[in-house]
Amino acid sequence: MSKPFLQIRGIRKEYGPVTAVHDVNLDVAQGEFLTFLGPSGSGKSTTLYILAGFEDPTGDIVLNGQSLLSTPSHKRNIGMVFQRYTLFPHLSVGENIAFPLKVRRLPKAEIDAKVRDMLKLVRLEGFEDRKPAQMSGGQQQRVALARALAYDPPLLLMDEPLSALDKKLREEIQHEIRRIHQQTEVTILYVTHDQEEALRLSDRIAVFSKGVIDQIGTGPELYANPATRFVAEFIGDSDFLPCDLVTAANGRADIALAGTTVIPSVPLHGKPVVGGKAALMLRPERLRLTRSAPGGSTAVPVTVSDITFLGNNIHVATQTAKGDALAVRLPFGHEAISSLNRGDRVWLGFDPASAHVFC
Ligand code: ADP
Ligand code: MG
Repeated sequence: MSKPFLQIRGIRKEYGPVTAVHDVNLDVAQGEFLTFLGPSGSGKSTTLYILAGFEDPTGDIVLNGQSLLSTPSHKRNIGMVFQRYTLFPHLSVGENIAFPLKVRRLPKAEIDAKVRDMLKLVRLEGFEDRKPAQMSGGQQQRVALARALAYDPPLLLMDEPLSALDKKLREEIQHEIRRIHQQTEVTILYVTHDQEEALRLSDRIAVFSKGVIDQIGTGPELYANPATRFVAEFIGDSDFLPCDLVTAANGRADIALAGTTVIPSVPLHGKPVVGGKAALMLRPERLRLTRSAPGGSTAVPVTVSDITFLGNNIHVATQTAKGDALAVRLPFGHEAISSLNRGDRVWLGFDPASAHVFC
């Protein structure tokens, strides 16, 4: 990244005994779409409110080389869209969009032109005289987006703006948000707890856990190379098996798994203790199911406990001899599936390089 557009430096926020945000550090490039993804209570909104100026943190926020912390919220010029519709109910759509421009005392002709541009951007031409109550939830959020973008803010903050909408509408507005981001090139910080939404929208994702960012990366980076067990569980599906750490060096481990010989050279994360316990992570879609032990490759013997048809793929739940659950996902029509039954004993093969060990 060249000189970062936005820098979040050592941000910390406490509410009495609760530390909502521990030590968040983040560089954001101009025009980037960056999402804060994490479970409820992990500090995503608090971080966003600190950027908006609603909360005072320790640490610093630098936008275009200038510290923002001494600038009050209403002078930061940052656009915001929140979960609940925050339109003024007594104002029309056009008046709602014009509101921030009137506050900035723009000439009337300029305001009218901007309102027209914004309605076009969010595809709501012809709606300017409606009241918010006469529009659907999705339309109201598009008006909120138009209002937030009307004064060309350098930064747009969005806090779970689609969570009150049903799935179909949510996907439709996700497309709109992507298009608007590409068209305007505004820098967006977006909060969601929904991994699919994060993957769909973002250039990069910051995964929040308990007030810290566990990892920042593109969706494929987080998926292929999760830094922590939490990230591995949060992005995509994952299987975990307990294992023993035999050796650990240079980011690789040899591990021992019940029922197999030593598995060499698995990518390693965390603080290894040789001879100690660890967890082996496998992706269900990377496992190969065979009837007999595959010669020369790493495989775990398991018993099939359930088979579920999920449309384009089939989910096979299995158990190891020790009772650990291991799920495998196979494409529909996979030859191993025909005549597979509950109680069958099969082998799940995998490439150690595609697995991960977490300590
Ligand atoms: P998220 O948006 O990821 O769900 P939040 O940033 O809202 O999480 O909250 C992080 C933590 O801080 C939670 O434990 C929450 O209960 C606490 N918290 C947030 N805001 C306040 C507040 N105003 N007063 C006290 N505790 C708060
Ligand atoms: Mg929140």
